[in-house]
Amino acid sequence: MAIAYDHIVIGAGSAGCAVAHGLVTGGAGTVLVIEAGPSDRWPLVRMPFGLVWMMGGARDWRYRSAPQAGLGGRSLAIPRGRMVGGSGSINSMVWFRGRAADFDGWALPGWSWSEVAPAFDAVEAQLRPRRLSGAHPLTEALGALFPTNDAKALPHPDREGAGVFAFNLHDGRRWSAADAFLRPALERGAALLTGAQVDRLTLKGDRIAGVRLGDGTEIAARKGVVLSAGAIGSPEILLRSGIGPAEELRAAGVDVVRDIPELGRNLHDHPGAGLHYEGPGSGYGLTPALWPRWAVAPLDWALRGRGLLASPTVEGGGFFNARGDGGAPDVQSHFIPFRLGHDGRKYALKQGYFADVCLCRPKSRGALRLTKRGIEIDLGIFADETDLDTLTAGWLRLRTLMAEADLGPHQAPEVAPGPAVRTEDQARAHIRATAGTAYHPVGTLRMGAEPDAPVTPDLRLRGTLGLHVADASVMPAVTSANTNAPSMMIGYRAGMMIAEAA
Ligand SMILES: Cc1cc2nc3c(=O)[nH]c(=O)nc-3n(C[C@H](O)[C@H](O)[C@H](O)COP(=O)(O)OP(=O)(O)OC[C@H]3O[C@@H](n4cnc5c(N)ncnc54)[C@H](O)[C@@H]3O)c2cc1C
Repeated sequence: MAIAYDHIVIGAGSAGCAVAHGLVTGGAGTVLVIEAGPSDRWPLVRMPFGLVWMMGGARDWRYRSAPQAGLGGRSLAIPRGRMVGGSGSINSMVWFRGRAADFDGWALPGWSWSEVAPAFDAVEAQLRPRRLSGAHPLTEALGALFPTNDAKALPHPDREGAGVFAFNLHDGRRWSAADAFLRPALERGAALLTGAQVDRLTLKGDRIAGVRLGDGTEIAARKGVVLSAGAIGSPEILLRSGIGPAEELRAAGVDVVRDIPELGRNLHDHPGAGLHYEGPGSGYGLTPALWPRWAVAPLDWALRGRGLLASPTVEGGGFFNARGDGGAPDVQSHFIPFRLGHDGRKYALKQGYFADVCLCRPKSRGALRLTKRGIEIDLGIFADETDLDTLTAGWLRLRTLMAEADLGPHQAPEVAPGPAVRTEDQARAHIRATAGTAYHPVGTLRMGAEPDAPVTPDLRLRGTLGLHVADASVMPAVTSANTNAPSMMIGYRAGMMIAEAA
């Protein structure tokens, strides 16, 4: 192997960028970041509304789930960013740490709330998330959903309330982990290889010695490799390297290097289902009345960072208890002041808005497996039926809250699903037929103190030397809100930990 670095970071996503920064600032030696996708220097990445066009495009891995039994056999799109910045370059930039109880509930040494909070502080010092400015009046009015709500307070997964969310965007432009962490690391000497897909890890005995790229190039890691390819990409690389459930690997025709039966298990996401509202003069949409605003939108965004294209689509939402029984919030809602398409159409030529409800703490679990045909991603949606119970209750409560609240002059009637879905049974059937996810897959390389957990609490792949895992895959249970900030926190802590040890 001619090429060698002290550390190789696989994946320049939300976590990987923070890892690279930690390694460089911690003086851990030479660092190479390998990214399968291209640069993020692309107007649609900067432009908050650009994600609408990027999803399903060349900068998206465009995974699809296996047919989901809980969804009547439907398969779901699983978008993942395939570029510098990873999914953090294609996401809506909603910023939530999660609840203190999420991290305390992991019950892992080093990961309690008091231990992770300083890392969140450090990440936020770089990302500077802020309450969205220039939100649609409907989003500003969301506080009306809860009479006790402080309309100016940011919603929080610990308490019922709704309003405008905080975002990691500045002056109407995306500010991702690539901006906050990777570029400063590159200025301090880290190297970045884009358009280079890691095929597998190379091993010398129990030690991970480096990586092999899709074109056969081998790169050695003198001190170690950090796997930050995300909750889908990281287990996929390990499985292709012969590390995973032995029987499954053999069946896929892969030589077994290390048997880790739980690798790829525990896959889960936040399942959700939505409601569409429509009416003239309501939210944004592709109607003649708004054509003048769409016409000036590119210039408005380019010159002033404002206007329709400065909206990250999701602008706000809230947290509440699905059954409204006074218990802690168990569902999150996302509010988009645009009339989205449904029934398979991307756009609807009307004005309106959309609100969804997602489970904060799903119990269902799926699995990512390697087969002869490639990876199979079973999200396990509603594998535990109580998830469907809670989501149905939350969806019905959201509908009532949205109907009863005074959202001002832009308020519009519900058009989908509308009056055809009334009873709880009808709502359950509708949710099975339409539910998707919030695009927050986690857990495939769960950290745990017990010997069957694939990753140890200090982020090492169990039973190997020289390999750390740092991304959303290590979360034993998903946090109660959006997963970008927690993924970055994990990357930040990994970088510091590995640099300290080095
Ligand atoms: C459309 C969308 C909207 C979202 N909205 C929000 C939101 O508003 N707020 C929020 O908090 N979260 C949101 N999320 C989720 C959030 O962005 C992710 O949880 C987070 O980015 C995960 O970080 P990660 O580092 O684990 O993975 P990623 O950021 O996905 O990074 C993985 C990186 O590894 C690279 N990679 C993968 N395989 C290989 C390989 N073989 N070789 C080399 N490189 C590889 C990928 O290209 C990618 O760059 C959204 C996600 C999506 C897709």
